[in-house]
Parts: sequence; structure tokens; C-alpha cells
Amino acid sequence: MAKPRIAMYWTGGCGGCDVSPLEVGEAIVDVLSGVEIVFWPALMDAKRAHVEALPAGSIDAVLINGALRTEENMEMVRLLREKAKLIVAYGACAHLGGIIGLGNLHSAQSLVDTALGEDWQASAPVPGANGDAPPALTAGVVPLSDAITVDYVVPGCPPPAQLIGQFFRGLLEGYMPDVGHVFAEEKALCDQCPREKEDRPIERFVRPHEIEPDPDKCLLDQGVVCMGPVTRGGCEAACPKLGMPCTGCVGPTRKAGDLAGGMISALASLVRAGEEGEDVFAQEDEILDGLVDTVGTLYKYALAGTWKRGSGGGGK
Ligand code: SF4
Ligand code: SF4
Repeated sequence: MAKPRIAMYWTGGCGGCDVSPLEVGEAIVDVLSGVEIVFWPALMDAKRAHVEALPAGSIDAVLINGALRTEENMEMVRLLREKAKLIVAYGACAHLGGIIGLGNLHSAQSLVDTALGEDWQASAPVPGANGDAPPALTAGVVPLSDAITVDYVVPGCPPPAQLIGQFFRGLLEGYMPDVGHVFAEEKALCDQCPREKEDRPIERFVRPHEIEPDPDKCLLDQGVVCMGPVTRGGCEAACPKLGMPCTGCVGPTRKAGDLAGGMISALASLVRAGEEGEDVFAQEDEILDGLVDTVGTLYKYALAGTWKRGSGGGGK
């Protein structure tokens, strides 16, 4: 059987996903010897012109990591879609928009001004003048599926070794699940978590650094916002096992549908306040006020997926 021809491409992201296949450990030898790498800029000297010269549909699987933040990202993923049989949204940024999707809380211009200072334009290269100008930003961040059709998702920030392994095993053995498959569990992470969960009423929210959590008990029961009830399993509860709450990087279960929406409903059923005759609503408001950085907590990875198009970000 001919080796699958694969490519890996990094758009708007931190680069962690681009090197994460190494997480599979020694099995990386089998992976690398079982595929033909056609394009992976972090590993080989290959330029856009090389991709343009390839026949349509000549790459078996293109793994794209990072969200879409620039016009160049948009052009490259459309080009790769044309050359690929299968497109894989690899990692939370490609899947959901990821952490950089929180940039959608601000305009593209204000992000640039904050990062580079308001005078940056005076010294910036002129686009088109010498070819070294930075690519133009889109109005907002969008996940990969907002620009092109995605066939599979390998989720996580970055994807955990076991999910990367599942994907490559399927590819190398020529047995892939139905298109649309997300390489993670259908059940929520709580199902894989060894912490004892009692669904205790929450009387106060705390941030992870504010307490030394009981090592055996559910973090949510201890007032730490842990997204385990609405996040797909697949990482074997790597963060909760170490005392850190799940932040939802593997994405929502089908049942939850939306990470923040599902979590708000879970929290609403857990917040309890007041004795008979007391102003329960006022006390519940006070408890909810203890939720710091609500969007950054509940939508850490998925804000961009909810961003409304129309201001120049996406479009198939
Ligand atoms: S999903 Fe996480 S590791 Fe991957 S590019 Fe985005 S921020 Fe980096
Ligand atoms: S710590 Fe988090 S993942 Fe574990 S049982 Fe509690 S809510 Fe679920």
C-alpha cells in the first residue's frame, strides 16, 4: 500500500500543535516512516509555490493547526483544501478558534495598536512595496470550518497523545471513521476523572491559586470552575488529576452543544444560597459575582466559533 501523503500547516496559533505529534513518544518513528510528508514548513523548506504546483486532491490528509487571523491564513487554507482529499482541524484553535479567538472581544486595529504601539504604522513596511509587509489582519478570528470544509477534528490544546495516536493509527491502517468524526470521547470528561464528585452546592467560587484543593474531591464541588461536565473526554483528565480545572480545550460534548451555555446551565443548578426567609436571589447574585473573567473562563477556546460573520472574518 502506498504511504499516505500528508501535510501540516500552521496558521494563527502558538506553534505548540505543530510539534505536538512528538507527544506520541517512540511511536513517532512508525508515524514518520509510515507517511510521505509533502509539506510541513516547520520541518522542511517548502514554499507556497510548491503547494500551488501540486495537482488537486494529491495530498491524502492536511492537518491544519491555528485559527484564521490573516488574509494569508485564508488564502493558504483554501489552497490546501483544493490540494487535499481530507482536511483535519488539528487542535483547539483550528477546531474552535482557540485562545486567540478571545481577540474578538476587541477590534483588529486596537489589538495591533496595543501590541505594537499606536505609531507602528509609520515605521511598518508598505504592503506590496517589497514583499515583506505583514499580512493584513481579518476583522476577527474564525475557526477553520468557517472558511473551508473540515473532514475530521483532532481536538485539544495541543491534542493529547492518545488522540493524536488514534488519528494516525486510522490513517496508517487505512481505516478511518466516518467523515465528521471528532477524535475524542462522546462522554464528558467527568466520566474519565478519578476525583470523587458529589454535586455539592457551590456557595463561593474560587480561582485555582486561591485554595489548596482536596486531592481526591471534585474541583467543582470545591468552588473551582471546572469545565469537565460539558467537555469531551479524551485527555484522561490530565489537568484535574494535577489539581488544575479543565478549561474545555477538547471542545463541547454533543449534548452540551456550546461550552459556555452548557456550563452556565450546570453552574445555575449548583449555586445554592440562603436559608428560608432570606433574600436568596441577592445571595446567589453575590456568589455569581465571584465568577471572575466570565468570558475568558467559559469561552476560553470557543469564543471565535460564536463570532458573527459579516465584518470580514470568514466566508467559504
Ligand atoms: S490549540 Fe493550543 S497548542 Fe495548538 S496552536 Fe492553539 S494555542 Fe497553540
Ligand atoms: S474535577 Fe472537573 S472533570 Fe473531575 S469530576 Fe470534577 S468537574 Fe468533572
